[in-house]
Amino acid sequence: MFQSIADRAVIVTGSSKGIGKGIAKVFASRGAKVALVGRDEKALKAVEAEIKASGGTAISIVADVSQIADVKRMVAATVEQFGGVDILCANAGIFPSAKLPDLTVETWDQTMEVNVRGSFLCVQAVVPHMIRAGRGRIVLTSSITGPVTGYPGWMHYGASKAAQLGMMRTAAIELAAHKITINAVLPGNVPTEGVSQLAPDYVKKMTDAVPQGRLGTADDVGFAALFFASDEASYITGQTLIVDGGQVLPESHMALEEMR
Ligand code: NAP
Repeated sequence: MFQSIADRAVIVTGSSKGIGKGIAKVFASRGAKVALVGRDEKALKAVEAEIKASGGTAISIVADVSQIADVKRMVAATVEQFGGVDILCANAGIFPSAKLPDLTVETWDQTMEVNVRGSFLCVQAVVPHMIRAGRGRIVLTSSITGPVTGYPGWMHYGASKAAQLGMMRTAAIELAAHKITINAVLPGNVPTEGVSQLAPDYVKKMTDAVPQGRLGTADDVGFAALFFASDEASYITGQTLIVDGGQVLPESHMALEEMR
């Protein structure tokens, strides 16, 4: 299954670290040509070297997804190197924590700029190439936080992750006639560089809140993205796939205690 990924050109934004790095490695392991995107050149080059060392194909593009000129350059460089863009994984995102009394307009705007405007700019920039090719796959990295759940300190983040889905549903209709699908993966808690400062106590409690008893991995999310990006998923568009080990399922903590 998923042989269709081989030789496809895929842009993975936010692939210098964390979940995006995992998505990039999963796609590269299936033979895709991967354009790695982030602002940290050193980190991107390290991922590129790792993929190449495993026999994969990757290039690094330093770009800020919230900046239109960067996004246009990112797509142009991918088309130049790989001959097109078959798949976009719009994964780059930020999650600065601030509870309501301390949430500044700057933090609100910055979160929306990267998570929402960044996703929109990347989608808009790849679509003309996909229309020309007569097919395309777009996978957004949203979150359970916002679309399904809430968590103190992440009001702005949750809003941005829900906004991605609102965008996705109309884009799915607009793109359907061009055989382009757009879907979203909604990860639960995945220990990445971005959440590495969390206290061990928080991590333990989070793990305990997952029915499967473990946190997610970047690969878990990568495989879900791989499914949406495959030819086999051609009839699925505008949909979400929660990747959380069952975290959103318990009605209350009692449901978990019942099983422990
Ligand atoms: P992470 O470890 O902090 O990595 C974030 C990635 O996004 C990095 O590669 C970073 O690259 C890139 N990035 C941030 N701002 C960018 C910008 N303006 N332009 C280009 N790249 C940018 O975070 P993560 O945990 O992997 O999160 C990745 C995605 O998954 C996010 O959309 C997040 O909302 C979502 N998510 C994460 C979790 C979780 O538990 N970890 C759960 C649900 C959803 P540079 O530093 O090189 O710019």
